[in-house]
Amino acid sequence: MPAIRQSLRKSGARSGTMRALIAIGAVVTVGISLIGWMSLSEIARRDRAQAEMAARNLITSLGSDISRNIELFDLSLQAVADGLQNPEVQGVSAELRQLVLFDRSTTAKNIGSLMVLDPDGNVVVESRSLTPRDTNYARRPYFQFHREHPKAGLHISAPYATKRGEYVLAISRRIDAEDGVFGGVVVGMLKLSYFHDLFRHVTVGEGDALMLMNTDGIALMRSPFNNGLIGADISQTTVTQAMLSEPAGVFEAQAGIDGIQRYYVHQAVPGLPLKISYGTAINRIYAGWRQEAWRIGTLVASLCCINLALLIGLTRSLRRRDEAEEQLQRLATTDALTGLYNRRHFDQTIAREWNRARRVSAPMSVLMIDADHFKAFNDTFGHQMGDDVLAALGDCIASVTQRSSDCSARYGGEEFAVILPGIGADEALCVAEAIRSKIGALRELQQGRPDRLPTVSIGTATLVPQAGLTPRDLIKAADAALYAAKEAGRDRVMVAAIPRDLPREKPVEKLAA
Ligand code: GH3
Ligand code: MG
Ligand code: MG
Repeated sequence: MPAIRQSLRKSGARSGTMRALIAIGAVVTVGISLIGWMSLSEIARRDRAQAEMAARNLITSLGSDISRNIELFDLSLQAVADGLQNPEVQGVSAELRQLVLFDRSTTAKNIGSLMVLDPDGNVVVESRSLTPRDTNYARRPYFQFHREHPKAGLHISAPYATKRGEYVLAISRRIDAEDGVFGGVVVGMLKLSYFHDLFRHVTVGEGDALMLMNTDGIALMRSPFNNGLIGADISQTTVTQAMLSEPAGVFEAQAGIDGIQRYYVHQAVPGLPLKISYGTAINRIYAGWRQEAWRIGTLVASLCCINLALLIGLTRSLRRRDEAEEQLQRLATTDALTGLYNRRHFDQTIAREWNRARRVSAPMSVLMIDADHFKAFNDTFGHQMGDDVLAALGDCIASVTQRSSDCSARYGGEEFAVILPGIGADEALCVAEAIRSKIGALRELQQGRPDRLPTVSIGTATLVPQAGLTPRDLIKAADAALYAAKEAGRDRVMVAAIPRDLPREKPVEKLAA
């Protein structure tokens, strides 16, 4: 049925509009989400950059402090080594020599004793006593190190506990004899309390870690303070290995010591074999970000929901409007009583089909169908029953003319018309007969009933549309055939006689009774 075709076309257009709406909705949703995601990424980037800057400033300042202090310490060691080789110093009394060599270096708070060892590891002179202690230090790692590395310069040992239970670092330099051979070692003890005091004054955020280690991966100091860690070899942890693999840098990792995920900033202490790092707890860096994420996430989700609700509302109202339009269209083209097309639609269709058939020189047929003696039926059974009968006749006609191009309409009153595009006279006759026999079959079933269906008379006409003819000519011919059928006694089909000068689809003028 054309009505179905039309509605399919409509539903195609509708699903196109729906698809466009859904696409727009999806684009808006993705756009909103993207803006939210970009804002959050920017906030995260800013928070991390701030954490990195704060950590870098801190370790740079601490590193400079440590570097400057150890440099001073080193200068003291060099002064002792140089002074000892001065013949004038060697000639003075033990007390004076003590005073000249160690000057004020030993009064500093965190500096332990300074000693000069001969090439065999025996104490030649020491800062804390006029009489050098009778101890041999040849087995100490720093002593052995200097003996084997002539050009090593300043050496900082791993931390160890003295007899008094103090943790210290041995900071040492090699003394070269005149000919460059090993002349002993000058060594001083730097108390780890120096680093402890330094770190103690730094406020470390919750979950953060400030760490000083030497380049062999031995921990020297940590804040928050962890006594068990001082002097421990942490060179095998992922974090330490990452730090020792480059002079300075940043990275995110989980600490092997306490399992906290941190953002580490690390660098070397200038001029020294030490490494200082600050790890900011990721939780702390992103605490503000998480709040923003909730805020922005809620906003984005709300906007997406509003967008979705608008989309659903719009789609629904579009569907309702389309349905209403479709219904209006149906009402405008349908005969309310029979459900067939109405006269208006019939007129439009025959004009359209006529033009199409003319373009391709195809035949087209029209059936005019009229209920027999219907006035009498109405007079006997009333209009209401007459209407029911008209509807039943309409059903019979519709059930026979089911091709999509067929158009069955109520032409007016108790008269029906069928357009059969592309159908020749013989086929049209068959269709007409099929309608008549369908009604006849129903009448058979209603045998004995006074209100049984009336018979119908049908006139058919077939033409190949051409110049000089109009659809009216075809209708008129079918109407004339219908009149002939009535004249011939009703309940029959008559085929219109087509003038000989018109092209015919087949010989016509055939009577079917
Ligand atoms: P014929 O066999 O020559 O066609 O006789 P007829 O009585 O059918 O023809 P006539 O033109 O004399 O009467 C047609 C009748 O159809 C008149 C009218 O009462 C009836 N009719 C027309 N439209 C309707 C309708 O919508 N409903 C009902 N119930 N009757 C209708
Ligand atoms: Mg009639
Ligand atoms: Mg009539």
